[in-house]
Amino acid sequence: MSIFFKNTLLKWHDPLERDLPWKTTNDPYKIWLSEVILQQTRVDQGRPYYLKFVENYPNVKSFSEAPLSDVLRLWQGLGYYARARNMHLAAKQVIDQFNGVFPTFYNDLLKIKGVGPYTAAAISSFSINEPRAVLDGNVFRVLARFFNINVPIDTNEGKLIFFNLANECLDKSMPGKYNQAIMDFGALVCKPKNPNCMMCPLQNNCAAFFEKTISDLPVKSKKIIKKERFFLYQIVNREGSVAIQKRVERDIWQELFEFPVIEFNNQAELLKSPLIAKDCDNVISLKQTLTHQIIHGFFVFCGTKLQEDNNKGEVLWINSSELSKFAFPKIICQFLEGNYF
Ligand code: SF4
Repeated sequence: MSIFFKNTLLKWHDPLERDLPWKTTNDPYKIWLSEVILQQTRVDQGRPYYLKFVENYPNVKSFSEAPLSDVLRLWQGLGYYARARNMHLAAKQVIDQFNGVFPTFYNDLLKIKGVGPYTAAAISSFSINEPRAVLDGNVFRVLARFFNINVPIDTNEGKLIFFNLANECLDKSMPGKYNQAIMDFGALVCKPKNPNCMMCPLQNNCAAFFEKTISDLPVKSKKIIKKERFFLYQIVNREGSVAIQKRVERDIWQELFEFPVIEFNNQAELLKSPLIAKDCDNVISLKQTLTHQIIHGFFVFCGTKLQEDNNKGEVLWINSSELSKFAFPKIICQFLEGNYF
């Protein structure tokens, strides 16, 4: 069955021309950039980010020499900034430990900061056709459904089963093409919701299709419980200058900028704050959902007076026309895009 599976996927993918810049290169540095970006966002949204990074930093040396603040600014909007920081460290590591030559072999790639088995398999198979099967969310889903496997994918047992199956299905003569095919198939046909089963070339042999278990697969054992956090942002404006601060603590958004913030344990406490109570019509509330946290941001206009805040960073007074030079988390960008000033 795995032979039918891989041949059908390759045939399906053959005429599929997706004009994507990272598919026409075997430069491991550029493949690495595209893979890390695509772990954060969809293909159409990731494309301009990839082009910006390649234009600004055409090779790993130029990337390693860039100030971190510039890298974070280019990354702005993708979220999970730890990835951007890790990329910057990884680029420096390639310069120091690999003489500036981005590695192509799976085992070398695994030594690089932030590169796990998935990314290493993608880079090694796309750049030099090393026979390593990729195993990301798309691949787990396609395999779980086609073979109707209900072992949770986040258990050791599940990981081993899917790892072995992914490698068994891998076309060893063209691993790069096969990996690309199964990932694209998961993104375009066997989608998480509303998979396109009626047009699917695998349908005749898809076990989940016949067992009517598609919507149950893949199975996960743990449900992530997200922590809710309540941030009160003070918008303080003095003669055209706005107060911002860098987040310096080991927490979400480290090294990014924000308005001076006070964090509360819950929404009721926050709403009792004198900053809000006196002018509650003038509060903008926005929400940002992260992997493990939900951030509720309340933006309050405080005139020219800055109250206490939780941020340990130095307060900078920035002309509002210069705000675009700083990297902010998405919730602050949303506020700025709302033209509330
Ligand atoms: S028939 Fe449906 S569930 Fe099965 S592989 Fe195709 S798209 Fe996925």
